[in-house]
Amino acid sequence: MKPHYSVIVVGGGIVGATAACALAVEGIDVALLDVHNPVRQWPDDERADIRVSALTRASQNILKAVGVWDAMAERNIEPYDQMHVWDASSAGLLHFDAADTKYDVLGHIVENRVTVAALWDQLESLPSASLLCPAKVTDLSCHIDKAEITLEDGSVLTADVLIAADERDSVLRQMAGIQTTGWEYKQDGLVATISTEKSHQNTAWQRFLPEGPLALLPLKNGDCSIVWTLKHETAQEYITLADDEFLQKLEQASEGVLGGMLSVGPRGAFPLRFQTAQQYTVEHFVLVGDAAHAMHPLAGQGANAGLLDAAAIAEIIIKTQQKGRPIGSRKSLREYEQWRKGDNLAMMSSMDVINKMYTQENEVFKQVRGLGMQVINQTNILKNYFNQYAMGLRADLPELANKD
Ligand SMILES: Cc1cc2nc3c(=O)[nH]c(=O)nc-3n(C[C@H](O)[C@H](O)[C@H](O)COP(=O)(O)OP(=O)(O)OC[C@H]3O[C@@H](n4cnc5c(N)ncnc54)[C@H](O)[C@@H]3O)c2cc1C
Repeated sequence: MKPHYSVIVVGGGIVGATAACALAVEGIDVALLDVHNPVRQWPDDERADIRVSALTRASQNILKAVGVWDAMAERNIEPYDQMHVWDASSAGLLHFDAADTKYDVLGHIVENRVTVAALWDQLESLPSASLLCPAKVTDLSCHIDKAEITLEDGSVLTADVLIAADERDSVLRQMAGIQTTGWEYKQDGLVATISTEKSHQNTAWQRFLPEGPLALLPLKNGDCSIVWTLKHETAQEYITLADDEFLQKLEQASEGVLGGMLSVGPRGAFPLRFQTAQQYTVEHFVLVGDAAHAMHPLAGQGANAGLLDAAAIAEIIIKTQQKGRPIGSRKSLREYEQWRKGDNLAMMSSMDVINKMYTQENEVFKQVRGLGMQVINQTNILKNYFNQYAMGLRADLPELANKD
């Protein structure tokens, strides 16, 4: 362990490990710290883990550019070429098809552990990356010329830039004195891996129900990952139901779209929150990923937004270094904040509006909502806009996200 690094990343989940990789492939001296060593090996025939992400084309581009997409594909990624969204309380329906775009697929469903394992393997092979793990930060101070952290074993490390990617309840964010704004949704995202009677047809299915949406996402071996938004109390009840009772509720909630529900693995429930950090940066310190923003998972955008943060901060640091300027200057870190905060807030707010729209009980509103979906579904220009947005392809992307 060295006493000083150009960049230290705290938190080696999808977002932090991507930021570290993007910097290390360009030869920037970076250390990645995590409290846990991630799991990097598991039996080939093991059922998919419950934590998955629908990764957009923009995210695929970033992961390709940092050299891990092929290794992820070797482990397992499942493409989806269609998306079918329908409303339980109206005739509203939306159908997206990759055939209407210039791409073969709309995105991929990937277990989070697959992405993290590929990133850590890649970091291990890069000479300018150091993996410091397990390591726990006990103190942080952000000075005018550097950021300084103390680890549990008493060692002190400094960096020109400290990137905090240490999850939604970020300890580093609190240590930096950055406040958050937001609220609890009083909904949980119930997740599990299931098998179904009918094929998932490489389609991402989503049905809006009064308590929140149910997503059935295609996985390997014909399995599906479910993300079922429910009121907190309902989720707590469903998590403890016997498998056959749970599968019955699921079949009903999915309107039998994939036929009978055959089996379910372990279930988990994650309380959902809208949360934004009031600032993304202080002296020599930036927030990325869930440490900066937590959003409703109804459109599966949290990890995708975090990957754009990772690509953006890496791009700014690399370009600043190439110009021979100090990478931790206030100017360059403020540039990152201005670039990403507005985009993330826009994304989070639209998820919030959609969640509110679909949990409304007013009958007239439901019919108008259904009509709105039909109009979008039948209007090519609107449909294309939503398609592009869902694929993460929009203006002002970091260069890594644009490299098709
Ligand atoms: C139900 C559900 C479904 C979702 N589905 C999708 C989806 O389909 N698509 C999508 O894009 N997003 C999805 N998301 C969001 C996505 O999971 C998160 O946005 C993403 O995992 C955040 O990544 P991260 O790297 O910022 O944080 P995390 O994945 O939380 O990683 C944080 C890392 O920091 C480490 N750490 C924590 N504290 C410390 C510390 N003090 N010191 C050092 N290390 C520390 C942890 O060990 C961990 O490795 C979903 C979320 C939920 C709840």
